[in-house]
Amino acid sequence: MASPPSDVIAAIATAPGRGGIGVVRISGPNLSSLAAVFSGREPQARLAQFARFRDAAGALIDEGLLLWFPAPHSFTGEDIIELQGHGGPVVMQMLLARCLELGARLAEPGEFTRRAFLNGKLDLAQAESVADLIEASTAAAARSAVRSLAGSFSKEVQGLCERLIDLRMLVEATLDFPDEDVDFLIEAKAFERIEVVASELRAILDRARQGSLLRNGLHVVLVGQPNVGKSSLLNRLAGEERAIVTDIAGTTRDALRETIQIEGIPLHITDTAGLRETTDEVEKIGIARTWAEIARADVVVRLVDVRAGLTEADAAIDARLPAGVERITVFNKVDLVAREPGREDGEEGVRLYLSAKAGMGVEQLRAELLRVAGWHRHGEDVILARERHLIALREALARVEAALEARHALELMAEELRLAQEAVNEITGEFTPDDLLGVIFSRFCIGK
Ligand code: GDP
Ligand code: ZN
Repeated sequence: MASPPSDVIAAIATAPGRGGIGVVRISGPNLSSLAAVFSGREPQARLAQFARFRDAAGALIDEGLLLWFPAPHSFTGEDIIELQGHGGPVVMQMLLARCLELGARLAEPGEFTRRAFLNGKLDLAQAESVADLIEASTAAAARSAVRSLAGSFSKEVQGLCERLIDLRMLVEATLDFPDEDVDFLIEAKAFERIEVVASELRAILDRARQGSLLRNGLHVVLVGQPNVGKSSLLNRLAGEERAIVTDIAGTTRDALRETIQIEGIPLHITDTAGLRETTDEVEKIGIARTWAEIARADVVVRLVDVRAGLTEADAAIDARLPAGVERITVFNKVDLVAREPGREDGEEGVRLYLSAKAGMGVEQLRAELLRVAGWHRHGEDVILARERHLIALREALARVEAALEARHALELMAEELRLAQEAVNEITGEFTPDDLLGVIFSRFCIGK
């Protein structure tokens, strides 16, 4: 039996646990003889073949299908074998063990996608969108990821890149011929064209920021005195009875988190222990956690009982909130005072009047949460950006703006344009250093 070369990688590609089918994927060079071992005959390209998978002693491990994708027409660009068996964890492990016995090694996290990138099957932004698609927590995020995977974001980035290259050539040509001068650039409309690139970058950045909201969502923390209705509001927002609601003050001792969706944006909402002076040791721990949650929040929703209004204790909480955090004050239990739900601008920010229990005015809170988050996109053109992309786009924009400033120092201008192009290229991975690639792919799971 021919043993395959050592850079053959294998992994269980399906999710752990039990399922109807499970898939073991193998990638590497020259795998046709390995495929023949599993299928018992000459494998046929891109056709599902019934096969009996056997261990070294010839005993049956499973019956299933074998798929054979010879290079270069495969996900990784190498030979790929897919073994589809029954989706039980033990069967899958036995099948994987058989692959390792036959000379494959266990794939590292993201190694299949990394090979696809290195073989030019995907650029870096597309490779990342594979992970984003799998991890998407909302349908809107999944749709955006699959658009990036299909290359729409990469195409825009390449378009920007080409325009920057043209502009660089123009400016550098002016530098090379001393009798050419700024007039030549003016005639070639170079400055207008740089302006256009800058405004395109701004537009892409805005869409990317919206995508970052889709991807990462918003961290919302509910704070307030015990019994003002924090848990009731979380239940109301989540639409289910998950947090414990009681009449006894101080029941919610630990932070409870729910992720809900508003217009496809994941909102991670944390219900916290009531922030009040206490001697109860357990409650004190809960309160310390509350402050830790607040430190990570994008939005703090401060609840008060409309009957009590804002108290000194609430003012004390307000004074301790971090400076940059958005805040919304909710006056809850309007049903008890026969007040209409609604919105008002208070000196400390937006005030909403609602009833968590009766559900009145809760829609307005949802809208307000999206507004403070800066969500304004509803279209298909949101870019599911990663922090890395935002940084690169911001850097490129800063460089392009600096190039415009440098219109009387053409060498500087050329240099700024070069740096802008480099920043843009980082998104698709043309100039991405190996260690960064390592970081990006290590966050994938095994089998991707
Ligand atoms: P928390 O301690 O702030 O989490 O408060 P809970 O959500 O546990 O609520 C405390 C009590 O207030 C419970 O009896 C709730 O049913 C009640 N409650 C909460 N919201 C409302 C509301 O909008 N109207 C009325 N009438 N009661 C409410
Ligand atoms: Zn509670």
